[in-house]
Amino acid sequence: MDAMPYAEPYKIKMIKTIRQNTREDRIKLIKEAEYNLFALNADDIYIDLLTDSGTGAMSDKQWAAMMEGDESYAGSTSFRKMKNSINSLLGFEYVLPTHQGRAAENVLFSAILKEGHIVPGNAHFDTTKGHIEFRKAVAIDCTIKEGKDPNLNHPFKGNVDIDAFESVIKQYGSEKIPIFILTITCNSGGGQPVSLENIKAVAEVCRKHEIKLIFDAARFAENAYFIKKREDKYKNSTIREIVAQMFSYADGCTMSSKKDAIVNMGGFIGLRDAEIYRKCSTFNIIFEGYLTYGGMSGRDMAALAQGLYESTTFEYLESRIGQTEYLGKLLKERGIPVLEPFGGHAVYVNAKEFLPEMDQEHYPAQVLGVELYIEAGVRGVEIGTVLADRDPVNRKNRPPELELLRLAIPRRTYTNNHMDVVAWGLQKVMERRDKLKGLEITYEAPIMRHFTAKFKRLGN
Ligand SMILES: *Cc1c(COP(=O)(O)O)cnc(C)c1O
Repeated sequence: MDAMPYAEPYKIKMIKTIRQNTREDRIKLIKEAEYNLFALNADDIYIDLLTDSGTGAMSDKQWAAMMEGDESYAGSTSFRKMKNSINSLLGFEYVLPTHQGRAAENVLFSAILKEGHIVPGNAHFDTTKGHIEFRKAVAIDCTIKEGKDPNLNHPFKGNVDIDAFESVIKQYGSEKIPIFILTITCNSGGGQPVSLENIKAVAEVCRKHEIKLIFDAARFAENAYFIKKREDKYKNSTIREIVAQMFSYADGCTMSSKKDAIVNMGGFIGLRDAEIYRKCSTFNIIFEGYLTYGGMSGRDMAALAQGLYESTTFEYLESRIGQTEYLGKLLKERGIPVLEPFGGHAVYVNAKEFLPEMDQEHYPAQVLGVELYIEAGVRGVEIGTVLADRDPVNRKNRPPELELLRLAIPRRTYTNNHMDVVAWGLQKVMERRDKLKGLEITYEAPIMRHFTAKFKRLGN
């Protein structure tokens, strides 16, 4: 007998109209934006897959919680709700609210990092690395080598190479290493998970050398789903049981709530140690705000508390990660080269394989992003030569190994019909890929050029 087909565990209660302009409009608009997708107006975009950060749809329960938000400067009820949910799901006794994830990094690192410190991790996220290097400390990537191979199918590409971690300790000495940062899922590695076995192994090395284990927890719930699906030992555990296990090994976390807390803005620090909490509190007050709001409105803390309960359910995660998988499979079926396994929050198109004739100095992933917008009004984001920027010394481009167009999927925001449009658009681009010309940069900022760079088409 046929099994009942799969469907989302929610129905739509409020909608936002999105406009489909014409191909001619888009050719004109992207030219006016000088071929930088960041320069487009959001209402000129049909399906926006720029990021999954802060772009998710809140539930009726989250909106209801917002109406009950307590905006008291000190002692807010909403803060207590948020603290309770973090305490019961993640197990941290001490909680500091921050306005977003990078603010949590700023506060925590102000309290514990000094010049010359070494911070090993599994492919630190850009803002994390930025906050480490800003303090003249050094981030060292200890991800397993399988995580760097785009053509290799491995269930936990975010895992840490324990030998690599131990040799960092041997080389620099543990007194120079106050923390290890474990990013779950690993964003810079393509939304790839870390296994519970690996978390445990990292924690053991940390304990032995008195290094604090800090989770960069933005997509912790997605990581827990992958553990349930791919680590046999946990196939019968609930998501919350797995989350509790994962966090039992952590001394603290920084969180961008714009991801797995399904809110539009917010973040927090979770800690077990009273002394670190006390140090962080001072920085939280000067950088963020008082201890019971830290840059967030009461209503946002209330929505965050509810969002954490929702993101840690199997039904939600199955639908969320199932949609990413749905898009990945569609692209694969159409012969579009994608990285595998697909990430939790995004599918990555391999632009080098898509446009094999194009020189990386002509920004193939950017070209792909521009053409997908023209074809279908879809916005992705370049993770390639533009983002990798120039060598600070010789000012030459430094084309990365992987030249990618990332299609990040906002939570609960689009339907699979939208994903069909994305796949259709990429196929249309594929059909005329032999005729595509590269781009040339006409303006760029000295650092972080991708946000504001201007381009022109080669041969025009
Ligand atoms: C988004 C993100 C951050 C930074 O959070 P913001 O809320 O954007 O400041 C840090 N780490 C990871 C893994 C992220 O995905």
